[in-house]
Amino acid sequence: MQAKSYDVVIAGGGFVGRALALALAKVAPGGFRVALVDAEPPGKDRDDARASALSAASRNLLSVLGVWPALEANAQAITSIEITDSGLNATLRPHLLGFEEELTPGVVAFMVENRDLHRALAGAVRDAEAIAVLAPETATDYRADAFRAVVTLGSGSEIETPLLIAADGKRSRLRERAGIQCIAWSYPQVGIVTTVAHSKPHGGKAVQHFLPAGPFAILPLKGERSSIVWTEERDRARAIVERDEAGFLAELSKRFGSRLGEIALAGPVQSFPLDFQFARGFVADRLALTGDAAHAVHPLAGQGLNIGFRDVAALAETIVEAARLGLDIGTAPVLERYERWRRFDSIFSATVMDGLNRLFSSDSAPLRALRDLGLGLVDRAPQVKRFVVREAAGTTGAVPRLLRGEML
Ligand SMILES: Cc1cc2nc3c(=O)[nH]c(=O)nc-3n(C[C@H](O)[C@H](O)[C@H](O)COP(=O)(O)OP(=O)(O)OC[C@H]3O[C@@H](n4cnc5c(N)ncnc54)[C@H](O)[C@@H]3O)c2cc1C
Repeated sequence: MQAKSYDVVIAGGGFVGRALALALAKVAPGGFRVALVDAEPPGKDRDDARASALSAASRNLLSVLGVWPALEANAQAITSIEITDSGLNATLRPHLLGFEEELTPGVVAFMVENRDLHRALAGAVRDAEAIAVLAPETATDYRADAFRAVVTLGSGSEIETPLLIAADGKRSRLRERAGIQCIAWSYPQVGIVTTVAHSKPHGGKAVQHFLPAGPFAILPLKGERSSIVWTEERDRARAIVERDEAGFLAELSKRFGSRLGEIALAGPVQSFPLDFQFARGFVADRLALTGDAAHAVHPLAGQGLNIGFRDVAALAETIVEAARLGLDIGTAPVLERYERWRRFDSIFSATVMDGLNRLFSSDSAPLRALRDLGLGLVDRAPQVKRFVVREAAGTTGAVPRLLRGEML
């Protein structure tokens, strides 16, 4: 039987795969016929207790994709950021670095609950006629020739396309099948995630407290709730999450402090292994890697998905421009343009996150004195602070059109 053919096949229906499918099927002039292959059943809510800090650039992308209106009412703008560094039992938590007047409300970052983001993207994908969702289904292998890639599905059938895009996450099967190696290591830490309700308002403030085991972040959500991303040494984390609710809350309270009054758990507790992973190449014959399939970074600055959305915008723009010129979108010159655009920027972000985690996950007194001095200097340098904020907003450098909120 003749394999069914699509303009583009995307393997992986996480945030990155779905956003790219929408960009190509809905926003690209003419619209591509896209197959979105995903291992998860369609319509099933994802079991994800996390919330994501989305940059202004990511918000722009979601606006162009028509997804932001479904998220806006529950998105919490981050209006100030406080960074502090102390031991777990320290009575004083010195203010080391803060951002307040540099953050115009609503311009730099928003907290969005992952459950809401999954639902909004899934709804938009369902409504897009040019996207064929093949799920639950997996892309298990592929072969490429001069004209097309033939993708083997877990069900045994095959589909073909000029361009296959891997958005199949950190453990990408297609990256492995293409023989693309990664620079990778695991952190001796896990990320514990939950949602907390508190009796006092957070006022839009995000707090990053660098503790010896790793960063502990309190990120504002709509209402009197905050999302917690708590980096903890692996064995200790296991013991903490296995405690009963009262025991877990007692540990959490030690780190959370009393600034926001009484606290209670307002969501499930989940933990995530933390790895650094960077693909040695982002492209192969008729294949492009995107999102966590290309790079996975430490979550301490909430950048993983923002970097993935930059891949989406750059790849969509590259594909549309190639198609406009009548080029075959799966050929090396087209894919290499995408790779050049994204590799330097993502390795820079990944190594900065890694460096910050190493610098701050240490209780060495000289190192602490040095980093506190550095943060204090930044705090007194408004121009540096404005630069950091512009970088965090994701709107500097060679920004693809979708991240500026423009059509393709
Ligand atoms: C604790 C924590 C907190 C974080 N906080 C933030 C934050 O605040 N801001 C931020 O920007 N980022 C954050 N991140 C990072 C962010 O969550 C990830 O970068 C992002 O979810 C990656 O999305 P993805 O679509 O690339 O991959 P995934 O979410 O892993 O999606 C991959 C999809 O592919 C499917 N799949 C897998 N294999 C196959 C196959 N063979 N065939 C078909 N489908 C397949 C899977 O079922 C899944 O649906 C955080 C990460 C962690 C761990």
